[in-house]
Amino acid sequence: MRLIAFGGPRCRLLQRSLGPRHRPCNSLPLLHRARVPYIARMSTNPPDLRPDLARARLTPSPKRDGQPHIGMVSLGCPKALVDSERILTRLRAEGYGISPDYTGADAVIVNTCGFLDSAKAESLAAIGEALAENGRVIVTGCLGAEPEYITGAHPSVMAVTGPHQYEQVLDAVHAAVPPRPDPYIDLLPASGVSLTPRHYSYLKISEGCNHKCKFCIIPDMRGRLASRPAHAVLREAEKLVDNGVRELLVISQDTSAYGVDIKHAEERGHRAHITDLARDLGSLGAWVRLHYVYPYPHVRQLIPLMAEGLVLPYLDIPFQHAHPDVLRRMARPAAAAKTLDEIAAWRDVCPDITLRSTFIVGYPGETEAEFQTLLDWLDEAQLDRVGCFKYENVAGARSNDLPDHVAEEVKQERWDRFMEKAQTISVDKLAAKVGTFQDVLIDDIDEDGIATCRTKADAPEIDGNLFIDEGTDGLSVGDLVRVEVDEAGEYDLWGKLHA
Ligand code: SF4
Repeated sequence: MRLIAFGGPRCRLLQRSLGPRHRPCNSLPLLHRARVPYIARMSTNPPDLRPDLARARLTPSPKRDGQPHIGMVSLGCPKALVDSERILTRLRAEGYGISPDYTGADAVIVNTCGFLDSAKAESLAAIGEALAENGRVIVTGCLGAEPEYITGAHPSVMAVTGPHQYEQVLDAVHAAVPPRPDPYIDLLPASGVSLTPRHYSYLKISEGCNHKCKFCIIPDMRGRLASRPAHAVLREAEKLVDNGVRELLVISQDTSAYGVDIKHAEERGHRAHITDLARDLGSLGAWVRLHYVYPYPHVRQLIPLMAEGLVLPYLDIPFQHAHPDVLRRMARPAAAAKTLDEIAAWRDVCPDITLRSTFIVGYPGETEAEFQTLLDWLDEAQLDRVGCFKYENVAGARSNDLPDHVAEEVKQERWDRFMEKAQTISVDKLAAKVGTFQDVLIDDIDEDGIATCRTKADAPEIDGNLFIDEGTDGLSVGDLVRVEVDEAGEYDLWGKLHA
């Protein structure tokens, strides 16, 4: 088994909601063009289609005599992936090699996810596998906030550290496998170690969250909002762009709240406010994509930047529901916001904006009428991309104690209805793109010359793709090209290069 695995419940949750293109390969009778390769979600991808593993292969770490090697299993969301990158970057700087398999590793770090009970089970299984295959295992990440939970199941782990406790993880690695740096060889690339392909990179701007949504235990695990200084974020972004990154994916738990904790401090000419940061990042010349933005009023200030082309016209904005009573029971931020009015105002300023969101159906107490409000809202909102989760209890979440939990079969039935509507919207929206010209970023070109690309409307891993199946000679991964869209499916597009 290769290490630097990537997956986890958040990904799986998204996968559940993404529809036919994301089903396992053996269930693809509806694929639009048989000659176009089916690219599954990462958890089902073969290794050569997994960008995390591809990246690991692109940066081989030949073992020199006596050099200690560490393996990494990274579970969970992109924020956890960024943590893994930071840990690996530090280890590389200290002279450690990164092992792509269990047998070549002197110890293995498992970066866990504890977002849902199913995530915890998956993390425990990953720890168990690492123990069985290697035996020397250090656990970190969200589930590390509950060390007894881990040691109860796996008493032989060498150390358990919590989320973003980078120093403690490094201490544990040093204790397990002392470093042996070679000053002539261990020169760290300025861009650090990246687990994503070189042409795009996640950029974490803050940790934690000040909200207390009742279904979520992230604030308990990751703490309150802690924003990075704007100049530090910008410096990291500049380095990434200097090293060939064409797209920056801004992530955090609550991107629109960026800087609130540090009172939007200005340091070295850069103010810690999402609007200022977005403008600064937009000046670097790369695509800038904003994830996990909440519908606060000041989000309106971001939309002109999208209309100007400074940041991508794309908002990943988790609405979770549309009925005000459900939102109140969830204790959601901006529960009272008139989201349809907001969406209309955004589209007035930036008609091309792509809106992605996630929703929960079957939340405790959700009535048929409340669910119907959500469906009607979706009809009106005409979102471009949606993910939908069936509500699930999470140990420690306050929503567990709410009355009137919804029966599983009702959740399933609502999920099916929701996804049917979402899919109809997606099909219509994509069909409307046929005949348009789009700038696309090439993520992959296979041996048959078929290029898997993304338009500005597609975030990696979670949205669809645009495929070019001829004329790709001379093109490379990371190139930006212009295409004319000539065909649309349920979630993907096809196009030909525009001269
Ligand atoms: S905004 Fe709500 S759902 Fe998002 S991390 Fe904070 S508490 Fe969790």
